[in-house]
Amino acid sequence: MGEQRKPGVYLCRGCGIGGAVDVGKLEAVAAKEQKVPLCRQHDCLCSDEGVALIRQDLEAGTVNQAIIAACSPRVMTDRFHFDRAQVIRANLREQVAWTQPAGDENTQMLAADNVRMAIAQAANTTAPEPLTAGEFNQRILVVGGGVSGMTAAMEAAATGYDVLLIERSEALGGWARRWSRRMPHRPPYRDLQPNGTEALMARVALEPRITVMTNATVSRTEGMPGRFSIQVTQAGATRTEQVGAIVVATGWRPYDPAKLGHLGYGASPDIVTNVELEAMLARGDLKRASDGKAPKLVAFIQCAGSRDPAHLPYCSSICCGVSIKHALQIKAADPSASVYIIYDELRTPGTAEEFYRQAQRQGVIFQKGKVKSVGADLTVLVDDELLGMEVPMAGLDLVVLATGMVPNATDVEAKTIEAEQALLTGDINALAPIAVAGYAGAAPKPAALAAETLPPGGSILNLQYRQGPHLPILADGFADSHFICFPYETRRSGIYTCGPVRRPMDIAEAREDATGAVMKAIQAIRNAKAGASVHPRVGDLSYPKIGLDICTKCRRCTVECPFGAIDEAADGYPIVNTTRCRRCGTCMGACPVRTISFDNYSVQMVSEMIKSVEVPDEFANKPRLLLLACENDAYPALDMAGVNRHPLNTYVRTVPVRCLGSVSAMWVSTALEKGYDGVMLMGCKSGDDYQCHFVKGSGIARERLEKIGETLKRMALEQDRVRLEEVSIADSGRVGGLLQGFTDRIVKLGLNPFKGF
Ligand code: SF4
Ligand code: SF4
Repeated sequence: MGEQRKPGVYLCRGCGIGGAVDVGKLEAVAAKEQKVPLCRQHDCLCSDEGVALIRQDLEAGTVNQAIIAACSPRVMTDRFHFDRAQVIRANLREQVAWTQPAGDENTQMLAADNVRMAIAQAANTTAPEPLTAGEFNQRILVVGGGVSGMTAAMEAAATGYDVLLIERSEALGGWARRWSRRMPHRPPYRDLQPNGTEALMARVALEPRITVMTNATVSRTEGMPGRFSIQVTQAGATRTEQVGAIVVATGWRPYDPAKLGHLGYGASPDIVTNVELEAMLARGDLKRASDGKAPKLVAFIQCAGSRDPAHLPYCSSICCGVSIKHALQIKAADPSASVYIIYDELRTPGTAEEFYRQAQRQGVIFQKGKVKSVGADLTVLVDDELLGMEVPMAGLDLVVLATGMVPNATDVEAKTIEAEQALLTGDINALAPIAVAGYAGAAPKPAALAAETLPPGGSILNLQYRQGPHLPILADGFADSHFICFPYETRRSGIYTCGPVRRPMDIAEAREDATGAVMKAIQAIRNAKAGASVHPRVGDLSYPKIGLDICTKCRRCTVECPFGAIDEAADGYPIVNTTRCRRCGTCMGACPVRTISFDNYSVQMVSEMIKSVEVPDEFANKPRLLLLACENDAYPALDMAGVNRHPLNTYVRTVPVRCLGSVSAMWVSTALEKGYDGVMLMGCKSGDDYQCHFVKGSGIARERLEKIGETLKRMALEQDRVRLEEVSIADSGRVGGLLQGFTDRIVKLGLNPFKGF
């Protein structure tokens, strides 16, 4: 903050706060004890009158930091937003008035500590100055010219953004261009509809904002959101293009039928895949390859490879609808033909149920059972669940294997067979790590980041990132984030995925998906230009500032940044690519010399908040526990506990943190030295669902806690005094029990012997 801090404390008496605590005594804490020059109370601060009260002081210049002691910082953010003023919130409602007994001495102490912590926060924070210098490019690169890619390009153009659309084959259109008809996507959802891909291709060709390059690949990507520099290789020549954001829409490929020998593929020319049947239908040439006759008795085998751990462990989602479409096409061509669809579980969600009923009406026979084998004579042996016995189906003219979708998350043509196998079985960790030039043998790589190990071979973007050339590929080979809250997201800021490269989906879903991804790309461009973060800390203008004077070049920040935002300069010092940064603070928590900080979040700020709490002496029999709660899941779960009126332990003092990855070991030692009896870290669930909004926060924190354990041993303090709990945002009914259980264990251990020193 360039100008002098002028804090003002605004205490709300509304929403039950005034009944739970003595607000006058809180004002005395702020004004007399903490010496805040201006303190006001109001019956409802979020009312027009209450907001005007704050605004008046800000406009008069008597205050430039509004410390609002009222509801949770997660709510009323629009009401309590004031241009060019810092707002700091103390939670007196959800985590005090709504979770504690009214009028209790401990409730009053908790409220007073929350006010003290907010004042300490204000004294150690400055209004962030965004980094906006230099040129930012507004163009969007779309990689992949199928339905998803073309839709993304058209949507971007419709929003006023220029697009460079790169397609590696000779023409746009992808697989969909080859389909005869498509599944219904409009009411009444019963009849096949025209393909529509050719029309989309024609619209792309006429759109002046879209530049199409076919037979082209991306041979190099460097930079960051707003400033990506791309090398495009086409016909042996390479040229450099500048773009602001990237959408990867590289689609899918059919599962290799050669791996389906158990279903007879290859044993007879009349055992075909759904893709091969589609080609016959598109040509108007539905004939058996063996004798050229039109098939009269056809069986479709669902889940040919899908939902099978030996092949594709996931549901490919489209094959049931595709088989229904094919069955209707066969019946339309020859109503006397008999068509069976043999399924284990038919999946026709939503409006696709209408399509299924239409097929029933048209005489398509659905048979529930598991196919055991298909012979070269086309005899299908079905384990019929209804009959409870194996039933042979003989005399078939054509057997169609409903094969599934495999994502093109890496460059298929450059990729090794071994890598593909490992991808399909999800055994990514079995693959050789990527050797990134210049980083071999670098700083320790936390085990929590092991899942970042990616397959060798062709990369779609050839990223020049510390973490290697690929987009992270997670479960089952899909290039999805697996962040519960962020579809389209990848772990590389400004780069989004859509369509079947992200998860199996049909044309209608892919078009919606592409629209969503482009909206994200546009947000990334606009935020980069404004110097603001993208999700989840949308709009945060802070960024990590590194004091190189004491940096030891240990590289921990560069290694642990989940988003590859920090590179190393030639001299070994870290450099932040600010628009890649999501402001999680993981680098700050990693830095052993604590030389990384944000204007509005620092090791010192949280340390001062921790120290500001009044810790009763050993004779008061009132333990104090510090809760460092991740703002994404843990803190909202605590708030929801309040909304549901679940009690929270009265001895706990809560500091929200951006991510458990940002937790500095110093906060734990500061708390214990101050006399807190225990410290709990509460963060997102770790694991393959990637609920952590910053990828690996809880995993990283758990590793760091092991080192804190050694420190505790040296201090002769029990390891049980520090604990990490993983929760989800839906755990409002559980968090109170976790805090109570921890408090009970600490009480059994006895008070912190450092108390009072
Ligand atoms: S704040 Fe997070 S995203 Fe930004 S540089 Fe640090 S670790 Fe990376
Ligand atoms: S973690 Fe800290 S000391 Fe290590 S390289 Fe990064 S800034 Fe320097």
